[in-house]
Amino acid sequence: MSTIYLKKTALPSYVARYSQPEHIQACYTCGTCNSACPVNAATSRLRPMELVYKARLGLLDELVSMPDIWYCMDCNRCSNFCPMMVKPLSLIQNLRAEAISRKIVCPELAEQHKEVLKRLLNALWHAADALLDGEYPKVAEHWEQWARTSPSDKANQLIKLPSDTPQTTAFRQMVRGYGVNATSISSCFTCRECSNACPICLDPRVFDPVKIFRLANFGLKDELLRSPCIWLCLDCQSCMSACSQGVKGALIIRQLQHIAYEEGVVAKDFPVRWQQLKGEVYGEYIREIDKLLEAARSVKPPYLKQV
Ligand code: SF4
Ligand code: SF4
Ligand code: SF4
Ligand code: SF4
Repeated sequence: MSTIYLKKTALPSYVARYSQPEHIQACYTCGTCNSACPVNAATSRLRPMELVYKARLGLLDELVSMPDIWYCMDCNRCSNFCPMMVKPLSLIQNLRAEAISRKIVCPELAEQHKEVLKRLLNALWHAADALLDGEYPKVAEHWEQWARTSPSDKANQLIKLPSDTPQTTAFRQMVRGYGVNATSISSCFTCRECSNACPICLDPRVFDPVKIFRLANFGLKDELLRSPCIWLCLDCQSCMSACSQGVKGALIIRQLQHIAYEEGVVAKDFPVRWQQLKGEVYGEYIREIDKLLEAARSVKPPYLKQV
């Protein structure tokens, strides 16, 4: 970890300007955001709490040079789960803007970062697909092909809608759940607000929450339980906040994973193996971001010399 140099000056104007919306002063270093961060869970390379802490100390010069701000995949899980309503993602986005305005990185990096995110999602889809087929692929060997290939053929084949049967009705009931977790999935009127809010709906051919909810509404059990898509969800709950109909999208997808596991559609060790495989895929993503950063920096900051 890089050394923290305490600055004696007041908070830089940029951080001060944004400190209100980010609400960083409320942080009491509980670590919830670190546990909630999917990049941190997979690679231990991104700790939003550390960024918030350094921002509170006014370490702007160090923050804008940290690769961590580009490892973030903009999922907002850290903010959604923070008990103090701190918004680490807003801080990260402002730091990226500051890094660009200071010419630490080139402006194109923002767009390139988005492209790498799309590549990550493609790769995650293919990795889940392979694991569902019972393979445990070598990620390093497949990364390039997975990353550049969207799963259009397999994911977009026409689906024949079933007529209502006791099986489709029973499946719908299972997806809705019971008690406090019950969700009004049938209230969905396909407005797509959930898809707009979903941080990983960058290419609907790879992942689109409203598609999952429609398939669940039609009772298309096999298509859903065998789909890699249900394993891509980050459980960030942004879809739930966005839905005016009270559809609890994140819970629906978690319920689908649960049914796939309980009914033996996936192997008993699937969740563990998926965590391992995801860690390897995210590792390639981090390597790709590092390469981008090396190319994008006009002046190499101290951290690159240490690597
Ligand atoms: S979850 Fe919130 S309060 Fe806890 S460490 Fe993260 S930013 Fe701070
Ligand atoms: S927005 Fe997501 S990826 Fe970025 S720091 Fe927060 S939890 Fe991690
Ligand atoms: S936001 Fe709600 S109503 Fe709109 S498509 Fe998504 S689940 Fe359906
Ligand atoms: S919880 Fe909802 S918004 Fe978040 S990744 Fe899953 S489908 Fe998308």
